[in-house]
Amino acid sequence: MLNRSGRARRHDAVFAAGLAVLLCLLGAAIVGGSDRAAAVPLTVIPASEAGMGAGGALLHAGARPRQGPARLRFELPPLQPEGQSWTVWIPRVPISALWLQGRDWRSPQHGFFSSDEGEEAALSGGYLIPLPRDWQGTVELDLYVEGAAATALQPRVLRADAATRVERRAVAIAAAIYAALFTLSLLSLALYAAARDRTFLSLSTCAILALLMLAGINGHLYGMPGLRLLAGWQTHGLWMLAFLFLASWAKLVQHYVGLQGSGTVTMRSLNVAVLVLLAAAGLSLLDLRLFDPVLQPLVALGWAAVGLGNLVLLVDAGRGRLAMALPLAVVVLATLLLALLRHLADFGVVPGLAATRYGFQCGLVVLMIVFAVGLVGRISEYRDQRDYDRLAREDTERRMLREAARTDLVNALQAKLRQLAPGDIEWTAFRLLFDHLLPLLPVESMVVVAQGFHGRDLLVTHPHDQKDRLWLDLERRLLALKRQAANSIALQQPVTTPEAVAIEAMIPLQIRAPAWGAVLLQRRGGDGFTSDEMALATEFARLAQMQVEQAIAAVNLRRSAELDALTGSLNRRSIDQWLARSFVEAERDGQPLSVLFVDLDRFKSVNDRFGHACGDHCLRAAAAALRGALGGGDLFGRYGGEEFIAILPGHGGAAARQVGEELRAAVERLAVEWEGQSLRLTVSVGVATRRDRERTPAATIDRADKALYAAKRSGRNCVHVAPAVFS
Ligand code: GH3
Ligand code: MG
Ligand code: MG
Repeated sequence: MLNRSGRARRHDAVFAAGLAVLLCLLGAAIVGGSDRAAAVPLTVIPASEAGMGAGGALLHAGARPRQGPARLRFELPPLQPEGQSWTVWIPRVPISALWLQGRDWRSPQHGFFSSDEGEEAALSGGYLIPLPRDWQGTVELDLYVEGAAATALQPRVLRADAATRVERRAVAIAAAIYAALFTLSLLSLALYAAARDRTFLSLSTCAILALLMLAGINGHLYGMPGLRLLAGWQTHGLWMLAFLFLASWAKLVQHYVGLQGSGTVTMRSLNVAVLVLLAAAGLSLLDLRLFDPVLQPLVALGWAAVGLGNLVLLVDAGRGRLAMALPLAVVVLATLLLALLRHLADFGVVPGLAATRYGFQCGLVVLMIVFAVGLVGRISEYRDQRDYDRLAREDTERRMLREAARTDLVNALQAKLRQLAPGDIEWTAFRLLFDHLLPLLPVESMVVVAQGFHGRDLLVTHPHDQKDRLWLDLERRLLALKRQAANSIALQQPVTTPEAVAIEAMIPLQIRAPAWGAVLLQRRGGDGFTSDEMALATEFARLAQMQVEQAIAAVNLRRSAELDALTGSLNRRSIDQWLARSFVEAERDGQPLSVLFVDLDRFKSVNDRFGHACGDHCLRAAAAALRGALGGGDLFGRYGGEEFIAILPGHGGAAARQVGEELRAAVERLAVEWEGQSLRLTVSVGVATRRDRERTPAATIDRADKALYAAKRSGRNCVHVAPAVFS
């Protein structure tokens, strides 16, 4: 920031220097070439002293306004070569009519507000009154003026060629000034359309009003097409233009300094000044002489007030490091001084040279140009700001997108993983990770590779159909990957695949050694991953892994609640639930249902002889053998101690006995190895089948228990089926 305003300051200084040079050149062009040699000294004799009758005309000759016409006296030397003539040239001031009158000669009448100029050029600088060719020696002419001239008439007697030169220069200067202002106005209008900054609109208005005002002051306005109408207002029209220009100038500066000055006293007073100026412009249009005593000084006051207000604002803004504010302040000051000079010249205090006439006008043009330069310079600031805003907006959008994807991922993981069996949880979780990460992080391939992750090896790939190729790439650097993953730090590195060189991001999974795992993202074309992308991938991978852990923990918890810890078969609680459910289903479907009680024979002696650890070992082996002998639709659980239960849906008495026999045989076949010995076990089995209308298991269980007891009594290692009714 500091750097930039430092640069802006240097630009300002360079620009100010360039401007000074430009002004000097302009000044030299205006002042240079003034044609004194071709001029004749002239004496203006006020009417009262000349003994002329008061013609009702008003002429300010010299410093003080005087009533009546004035007499011009001058000496005409003979002209070389022949064919030359003398001309009276009077700079244009706002009067209704002006003419010269000799004893038997009268010039054509000139007028400021009339548009038909006769011989004079369209943008002429003065009234040209050619004198008869044969005049020589002392000439006395009376100058008649009609209409109120607020400014001094400063007639000069020039040789005709010199007068033409003076005129040409005036035309050139006026044309340059108008063209500059017109172009500026159009340009700022275009810039307004492009940048939508009201300051440009303000500049455009100000430039066009400056053009109209200057054209008015120079007496060219009424020659411009469509503006003849204004001539009716005469001096009031000129005042109105001045008021409007001043108001728009004040607004322009206010817009220009913008934020820096809002709410300050100067800003508020300028607002008041603008209102007063607009009101004065309105009053001027009423064209009433009544207001003249107020309006006339108000023009001068307006210049002073607006000029000084602008100076204060600009200097203030310059201190606040606003671009071009200080050069602008300098130009404003110069223009004000030049305006003052012109005003003094109007009253004849200083000579009315071209420099005083046009210096102030050129000052205004330069002022508008500097405004434009300052504003155009500001466009780059807007652009920077807009770029910054856009980046910020994109950043916010990206972050919101990520946040949404993150929430989506967590929801999807929570919804899906709950329903899955352990082997599917990891795989599904990382597929979901890919689905959610890919739209945010475009890569050629994503791989999750893990060894010993919850006791399993894992390889999930995207694209799925390139699994074999991706594994081939991975296999040869598995060891290196494992080493990197052990560091638990995400990193990216170039990798060479048979097809291309790619950048690979490696995000290790947080798994305790010796297990390890990583998410690998590959991007081709040498574009690495930004730290932002790395953070995103890391976060998503962590989320997926966390959800996997939670889902697996939930599965384990569920299992420990359902299963018997020693044998891994259903525990008593789940068996009771299954029994109840199976009975309801059997009743509903009208299907048979049998229950088998299986009890290890003389198991106490196993414990006694070999210890409890051996007993546990035998229990596990027996449970596994029994489970292996059962069908897929059968349920098997530990009912308590060394007693197991099998529930056989769809099995009637005979089929159940058959299964009981198979169970018994399975255990009988079993040889349990324990400390070098081979132990043999047997079981007794009691079978009971659900009777019609038995909706709860209690009675059937009771009969199965009794059947088991009967089996024990009849010598063990046998199957006993409960009779339909126990007596
Ligand atoms: P039988 O059933 O053939 O009449 O003789 P038994 O020795 O099996 O007699 P009983 O059913 O009364 O004894 C059950 C024994 O099973 C008691 C206990 O020592 C043993 N037992 C029960 N639960 C466990 C267990 O979880 N682990 C071990 N090691 N032994 C158990
Ligand atoms: Mg027993
Ligand atoms: Mg028992």
